[in-house]
Amino acid sequence: NYVPLSPVTFLKRAATVYPNKIAVVHGDRRITYRDLHAMVTRFASALVKRGIRKGDTVSILAPNIPEMLAAHYAVPLIGAVLNSINTRLDAPTIAFILEHGESKFVISDKELNPVMEEALAQLGKTLPVIDIDDPMAKGGKLIGEKDFDAFLEEGDADYEWSLPEDEWQAICLNYTSGTTGNPKGVVYHHRGAYLNAMGNAVSFGLTPTSVYLWTLPMFHCNGWSYTWAVTAVGGTHVCLRAVDPALIFPSIRDNKVTHMCGAPIVLTMLIHAPADVKCEFPQVVEVATGGAAPPSAVISNMEKLGFHVTHLYGMTECYGPSAICAWQDEWNDLSMEDKASKVARQGVALVTLEEQRVVDSETMEDVPADGETIGELVMRGNTVMRGYLKNPAASDAAFKGGWLHTGDLAVMHPDSYIEVKDRSKDIIISGGENISSLEIEEVLYKHPDIMEAAVVAAPHEKWGETPSAYVTLKAESEGKVSAEDVIAYCRSHMAHYKAPTKVTFGPLPKTSTGKIQKFVLRDLEKTGE
Ligand code: ATP
Ligand code: MG
Repeated sequence: NYVPLSPVTFLKRAATVYPNKIAVVHGDRRITYRDLHAMVTRFASALVKRGIRKGDTVSILAPNIPEMLAAHYAVPLIGAVLNSINTRLDAPTIAFILEHGESKFVISDKELNPVMEEALAQLGKTLPVIDIDDPMAKGGKLIGEKDFDAFLEEGDADYEWSLPEDEWQAICLNYTSGTTGNPKGVVYHHRGAYLNAMGNAVSFGLTPTSVYLWTLPMFHCNGWSYTWAVTAVGGTHVCLRAVDPALIFPSIRDNKVTHMCGAPIVLTMLIHAPADVKCEFPQVVEVATGGAAPPSAVISNMEKLGFHVTHLYGMTECYGPSAICAWQDEWNDLSMEDKASKVARQGVALVTLEEQRVVDSETMEDVPADGETIGELVMRGNTVMRGYLKNPAASDAAFKGGWLHTGDLAVMHPDSYIEVKDRSKDIIISGGENISSLEIEEVLYKHPDIMEAAVVAAPHEKWGETPSAYVTLKAESEGKVSAEDVIAYCRSHMAHYKAPTKVTFGPLPKTSTGKIQKFVLRDLEKTGE
């Protein structure tokens, strides 16, 4: 009686159990589960009529809109592989992904069409393109053969759903964020995607009454687990085309949002939003944050705004979230600040992951669970990729000793919580001492005038390396704080050798998922520009 696991079943079930429930809200559009199912059916059938077959890659470039959600079901339904492209990439990188991922078909949002058009021109071969002509798009143009709605008309309304024969077959092709260099292609299978969605639904407390606000990109691994997880429980997706506090706050109030996810940068934007934008809402909103370490000050400030923060750790290579640090009952007696510093740790393994360990990466021996000894975080289990696409060297390096090496340095606490100290590339080695850049950033974020901060190694004649801080001040604090003030503040809050010796003010370079690109800052230090 074996049935292969596939997240496609989530929508099939939701449409049967909750046909009249609102599956997706987008502006004035309200789509029921029955209608989403009908849209996916035609979408899948239309792709088949265009010759798309099992194993073919279908690329989509779109923000968080209903068509993007539908693609997460229609493409896997026919056994094809969904490649959702990062919406902030430049044309050459998009062209690289279309080529590297051997894309056969492209669906592109009107607003993003200018960059897609350029990418297609650079690709040097013709691919079929369908436009999503979303009335809420601001600008853009049509470049495709036809509009998405007309494309759906090509499909049959009674196209029969068949589930994948093999749960190990590919479902998606996702590229890493490119925080440390070129993005790498990661192939997911139906089984891992199913289990990861289940793990997230359980850990994040999603239920049929959940209303999930999309502030994390659906194209990103942390995002797409929720395209499946929210549908699995029959919850409601609320779409937003842009991550903007002026849209997020009213959407939380008007749609009675219960859950959302956002990178720490999104939380920082919400905390620092102007007072007239921060409208009141009566419910407690569960927020999962991750993708980068949230400073504890960000967690406690969110709590003060009426949010309840869960912290997730994950990477593209493991389908998004793999560890979770939720609030614990026994923490209730702690101060808000102490609770926040507990939540700032990355957490215990998600229920669907087999195991995470912190090891000496040479010997693969566990480091002692003393909360102090630094090792590399490695993991193994159902929700770990099998390798990078067409990159055996990177795959072999990632799976040394049979475990996925995350490249993140962490400690293991006695209560099984891991705490990430740094990416191995980001650790600063000064006078032979290892200094965690995250630890310095944690202090900087507590400074009342600082909005964002990143610390990297700068070459130093005597010490080898020294911490150099890049800082964005709050708008009202600009010009009021000097580099010397920041250095003195750090020296009064940490061991002197850890305190930054240089401070530069200005905006920080970021990836499309809002991660600070420290390699750009490190290069600045090396070239001295
Ligand atoms: P690339 O691999 O292309 O350089 P990337 O590693 O940023 O980019 P992702 O897969 O999006 O690509 O991100 C995974 C990484 O993000 C993790 O290895 C870790 O360094 C960091 N990360 C994710 N969540 C957290 C977290 N909660 N705390 C600290 N770091 C995190
Ligand atoms: Mg990575």
